[in-house]
Amino acid sequence: MSNRRMETKCVQGGYTPGNGEPRQIPIIQSTTFKYATSEAMGQLFDLEASGYFYSRLQNPTCDYVAAKICEMEGGTAAMLTSSGQSANFFAVFNIAGNGDHVVSTSAIYGGTYNLFAVTMKRMGVEFTFVSPDCTEEELEAAFRPNTKAVFGETIANPALAIFDFEKFSRAAHAHGVPLIVDNTFATPVNCRPFEHGADIVTHSTTKYMDGHGAAVGGCIVDSGKFDWLSHADKFPGLCTLDDSYHGITYAEKFGQGGAYITKATAQLMRDFGCTPAPQSAFILNLGLESLHVRMQRHCENAQAVAEYLQQHDKIAWVNYAGLPGNKYYDLAKKYLPNGTCGVVSFGVKGGRKAAETFMAALKLAAIETHVADARTCCLHPASATHRQMNEEELIAAGVPGDLVRFSCGLESKEDLIEDIAQALEQV
Ligand SMILES: *Cc1c(COP(=O)(O)O)cnc(C)c1O
Repeated sequence: MSNRRMETKCVQGGYTPGNGEPRQIPIIQSTTFKYATSEAMGQLFDLEASGYFYSRLQNPTCDYVAAKICEMEGGTAAMLTSSGQSANFFAVFNIAGNGDHVVSTSAIYGGTYNLFAVTMKRMGVEFTFVSPDCTEEELEAAFRPNTKAVFGETIANPALAIFDFEKFSRAAHAHGVPLIVDNTFATPVNCRPFEHGADIVTHSTTKYMDGHGAAVGGCIVDSGKFDWLSHADKFPGLCTLDDSYHGITYAEKFGQGGAYITKATAQLMRDFGCTPAPQSAFILNLGLESLHVRMQRHCENAQAVAEYLQQHDKIAWVNYAGLPGNKYYDLAKKYLPNGTCGVVSFGVKGGRKAAETFMAALKLAAIETHVADARTCCLHPASATHRQMNEEELIAAGVPGDLVRFSCGLESKEDLIEDIAQALEQV
């Protein structure tokens, strides 16, 4: 499947049934797996043989779906997690622990920011946040001798900044550390970060990949391109013996393409258990089968909505990288030539009060703390996710009081625009 095109991978990747086997991915709803001898099971516990024994670590349904996403991203190994949060936590914690440091862009999802700046800080991992628009010198100054990774989002949620892959991957590799990219908003249909220097990709599959607001989930994919053993001093967890597995060294036993995901499964999934349900993996796969068709429509609708808003005299500003003149237009053309995503943000003239009136008048777009759904939804962050902040803090976070985040679904773009038009009349 690896030399097939994206559309084919979306539909048929990851699972090839044999004669008489189910055409659709089977849901293996079993916590445990049977063995005839203790000897055979012991081999699994020593990582000497591969196989399923307990669904907290691995389950065949989840692995079929992970294999599909792996093919779509062009990676060597992948794993599903129970959420995007656990995917980003595992992706970083797998290589950075107490006493280590990570460089991240500041334009990241609020939940990820909290995970990094508060929770992982309590675990002894320090983060330096840099603007996505920082100069090479500013980026360089963020590195420390104990830096273990660089992190960013292809399309930042909700700032919609486009990630400068060249700038960040060059800096990461000059310092001998991998670049981890959250590719949630772009999906591999619109951007494949491994082609632009990323080493590890993460996803909240809750968004476009599922696409129907049905199942929370996450995924981590390894490109197999990062040479851990050449930087063995920085990554002892991959390059020295693991005491909890009778002295296995991941980078030696599983090679450059398999070490990272095997370690994350064998240690982090074993100990934290952020395991997706097989049923959720099945639902995710239904979404993946149409991802290539849906992304095109999400982008088409968002482009039309953004263009409509831009010429409306009750709209103060519009942020969508598909609009010529947008700060990120050129980066979007370079890294996402087929389109960015379905999310547009804009300001309604009259500030917070006008934004609230506008949103209350919408009939098709529901108010939800969600994006990337088949159904159009919107959010006023200043009264919801960023409610605790005052006006000054909102500006600093890049979330002005008038900002509306509008996630274009798969409905008719004419209907969406008519709905926006009638709601703006109420303002
Ligand atoms: C939603 C989101 C997450 C978190 O994912 P969950 O599935 O909600 O845990 C992480 N990164 C990005 C870019 C997101 O949009």
